[in-house]
This record gives sequence, structure tokens and C-alpha cells, in this order.
Amino acid sequence: TCIVYWMRMADIRITDNKALSLAASAARHSDLPLVAVFVISPQDYIAHDRSARRIDFTLRNLALLKESFSQLHVPFHVVSHEPRKDIPKFLLSFLKDIKCNEIYANIEYEVDELRRDIQLCELANPQGIKASFVHNKCIVEPGAIIKKDGGSYAVYSPYQKAWIKLVDEEQGQYLCKYSSPEPNDKSIRKDERFAHIFDTPVPEDVQDFTLGDVDSAKMAEVWPAGENAANEILQRFLRTKARAAGLGAVNPLASGAEKSVKNSRIQNYELDRDRADKDTTSRLSLYLSSGVLSPRECIRAAMKLSGNDHVDGNRQSGIGRWIQEIAWRDFYTSVLASFPRVSMGRPFLEKYASVVWENHQSPGETNSKNTAHRDSEALKRWKSGTTGVPIVDATMRCIQEMGWVHNRLRMITAMFLVKDLMIDWRVGERYFMEQLIDGDLASNNGGWQWCASTGVDPCPYFRIFNPYSQSSKADPTGNFIRHWVPELRKLKGQDLHRPSPSAADKFGYPRAIVDHEKSRERALRRYKNPGQK
Ligand code: FAD
Repeated sequence: TCIVYWMRMADIRITDNKALSLAASAARHSDLPLVAVFVISPQDYIAHDRSARRIDFTLRNLALLKESFSQLHVPFHVVSHEPRKDIPKFLLSFLKDIKCNEIYANIEYEVDELRRDIQLCELANPQGIKASFVHNKCIVEPGAIIKKDGGSYAVYSPYQKAWIKLVDEEQGQYLCKYSSPEPNDKSIRKDERFAHIFDTPVPEDVQDFTLGDVDSAKMAEVWPAGENAANEILQRFLRTKARAAGLGAVNPLASGAEKSVKNSRIQNYELDRDRADKDTTSRLSLYLSSGVLSPRECIRAAMKLSGNDHVDGNRQSGIGRWIQEIAWRDFYTSVLASFPRVSMGRPFLEKYASVVWENHQSPGETNSKNTAHRDSEALKRWKSGTTGVPIVDATMRCIQEMGWVHNRLRMITAMFLVKDLMIDWRVGERYFMEQLIDGDLASNNGGWQWCASTGVDPCPYFRIFNPYSQSSKADPTGNFIRHWVPELRKLKGQDLHRPSPSAADKFGYPRAIVDHEKSRERALRRYKNPGQK
């Protein structure tokens, strides 16, 4: 017999991984071989609008993990399977073939994934195979923080207060480091059940999610794979100053960062985090959403730097502020688990379900790649970064090049799509998933519903960002716009943030697609009277 660890899309690491650690200790205690498996499921990637970049990043990490597992003498089976509804049966047959009697995995909170795992339990248990699913994605698992009335929090600040208190009280549980597997018995290489697993390589691509050679090389350069790279990026964030040079599609580890613990990016985070004209934030989101880096490690490392080993004690500093951002990640995952309708195309606030959009796309329409030809002119211009609003265009071009953009810019462009262009937030949510390398259903949905004023703890509907004043705040030097919209590089000050029609014409840049004041009035009217134009 043997013990299996089933790795999934959000826990692709060896270090500080709860399910893997449990599987490895079960194997050690019972003196059984440990086997790791990953099932590539293209239909799931289509259903979740996964970006080709995210799939490519996953495969690059799996290839490195194959190597690391091999050094631990653990066979790592990476296999593709369709249709997705048959994955539990397919897995069961694999478990029976290798005579597995226990399987461990970290929980994925999306509805389809939960159903799949329940089905595996139902199939495996009668066959004498014990299936265990454990929490690992968040610091505090969904369901652990509840209101006095037993319900889930839908407002962030009381959730955050309870989160900080709980983490501080139970640091042993929430900030512990799970042990890594130790090298398994070498003789399992000779066991014919596993021989082919050691020899089978990780596929280089997944059909329909292939990046062209140029994009693929660029992504490998900008977003290096592997746990070591993720840890190095974390250490740089803790120890180095922000650089204007980090604006473009450059590797966060590229040289040029000045080593200095004083005034490092995390220490200045409280003041600087909304600045997009320097690399003020960690750029760790893709490593966190793919699970290449443990969120517990982020908090442990940040607290070690401050010397204060209480989350509450760090609250007023840049370090504390950064830890609170990681709590947002937990909050949105908890919302997804408690109110699964938000992931099914429904607004959390049902009263806004009937707001009239200019470009309605039914929530049931999957994979907008096939519906792109039906995009309205306005949607096309938003996607291609040609709206004539420089900060929006720079943001959309940055997303297209890098698969990532700063949080404040995500907010500005999302709010622009929804409230200035009056395009359904679900269209933007889907487009982000298709483009982002850090795409995460819970955080993306949370971010979009916040901007659209339809979500938990949303921005009130009458708060409509003025893209021009937001632009001056997020990009005070104008360097971000100049980098991504080079045709405007000769403009300075307010002219750069809001070019006049004559300046736009002169530089071959489009005139603004909407008059912000007029579109603001339209949004206020439609939100105030859902269902009416
Ligand atoms: P840092 O500022 O260094 O923050 C550290 C970590 O905290 C991040 O890596 C992330 O894991 C977490 N975090 C920070 N802000 C948020 C937030 N508002 N919500 C949830 N977690 C947060 N984040 C994703 O990981 N995947 C997404 O698909 C995603 N889509 C978004 C869509 C919209 C419309 C908006 C407004 C936000 C979205 N975010 C998403 C949240 C946020 O923009 C990114 O996590 C952040 O920009 C990542 O940059 P960073 O790693 O430098 O963050």
C-alpha cells in the first residue's frame, strides 16, 4: 500500500504545505511510500476562465516540483484528464492501481471543486481508501470567524479585528510551519507500480492554453517559477527600496534593487502602497494564488523583520498594513465559501441584479474568447487600452503585457468599465481572469463586486472614482502612464493625466471615450433605480 498527496492549482509547493505534510507523516509512521499526483483538467480551466499565463506558470512550477520530489524519492504523477466530471472515478482507479489506502489534499473552496471532492470521498471510502481534505489556502480558514449570531461576516473591518485577535491568540495553529517531507525510501524507484511515474515528464502545454513562444519566454523572465524565486521576491520586498525601474515587464528579481532594511518597501507600505509609479507592493499575488508561497511564511517573515511577534502590535506600521492585505485574501475566500452565489455570476446585493447595463452578457455565457466578436466598441476599446483615458489605457496595456497590475489601478479601471462605460461587471471579471497570471476567483470576484458596489462591504454606489484625479494620486510622477502609453510621453502634469482633445489629436492618441461627468450621472440614475434606464 501507499499514501497519496493530491496537489491542486492553489498549493503547488513542498514547503509549509499542510496536506503534503500530513501525507508525509502518515507515510513515515506507517513506513509506506508517499506518492504525489496532480491532475491537469482543461475543462476546469475553461470553466474558471483561467488565463494561458496562469496555466503556463503552473506547468513551469510543476516541472520544478517534479525535480524536487524526485530528489526526495517521491514519485510525482502529473497527468491530464477529461471530462472533468469523471476525475473522481479516474483518480479512484489510479489509487486502486497503486494500492493507495490514504489520500490527502488541501481544500479548494469553489463549488465545483467541493462537489468533486465529496464525490471522491463517496467513491473512495467504501473501497477502504480514506480521503482527508484540510484547510491550507488561508491563514484563518473559512468558517473559523463568525458573528455573534452565527452568521458569516459580510463587512471587512469587524472581520479583520476578529482575525487579528484570533491569529494572535492561536499563533501555534495559524502561523505554524508544517514540516516538509523527508526523503522516502529509495527502493520505491524499483517498485514497478511507480517506475513509470518517475519517468513520465510534466506536459509542456495544455491544449487551448498555449502561450506563443515570445509570450512564454517573457512570462518566464518576468515571473520566475519556483519556491526559491518566491522566497527571494518576499525577501526583496522586506529589505529593499521601491524602484521606478520596476514599472515595466521586468522580473521582480532584476538587479538594481538597493539592499537596505531601512525604508524598505514593506516599511513604507502604509504611505506608499497606492503609488503605482514605483514598485511599492510585493508582487507576490501570483505566488500566493498558485500556492507557490505560503501566506503563513509571509506573515512570519514580516513579523520577524519588525521584531514584534504580535500581529496586533504591528498594526500601525507598514508591516501591519501589509499583513492586513493578506487578511483581505482570507476575507474574500471566506465570502466565497459562505455565499457561493457570488461565484455563480450573482451580485452579493441582490437589489443590484437588475441594474441596466449597456452591454449585457448573461452570467451563463462561458469563455468569452468565443464571444469576443460580439464585444461592443466601448468594450473593445477598454480591453485594448484605447479609451482615451490615459490611466485606464496604461493599466489595460500593462495587464496585457504582464498579466498583472497594481491594486489601485485594478480598482480604477474596473470602476471605469462599470460606472463610466456602464458595462456589466461580470464581463470585466471574466476578462481579468483570462488575462491575469494571479487570477483567483475569490479575490477577483471580491474586487469586481467592490468596484461595482454589488458585493460584500462594497464601495457605495454613489462613490464613483474620477479617473483623472485618481490618476494624479496613483501616478503623481506620470511615469507609469509614460511607460505604458509612450505616445503621450511628451506631456506633463495634468495634461498627461487628462490630455486635451487637441493634444490627443497631435500625438495620435484617441479622444476620451466618455464625458466623465455625464456618465457619472447615468450611473447614479441607474443604480438608484435598478431596472430603469
Ligand atoms: P500586495 O500589496 O503586496 O499585497 C500582498 C498580498 O495580499 C497580495 O499578493 C494578495 O495576495 C493580498 N491582497 C492584497 N490586496 C488584496 C485585495 N484587495 N483582495 C484580496 N487579496 C489582496 N488579487 C489576486 O490575487 N487575484 C485576482 O484575481 C485579483 N483580482 C482583482 C480584481 C480587482 C478588480 C481588484 C480591485 C483587485 C483584485 N485582486 C486580485 C487584489 C489585488 O489587486 C492583488 O492581490 C494585488 O494587486 C497584488 O499585488 P501585490 O502582490 O503586489 O499585493
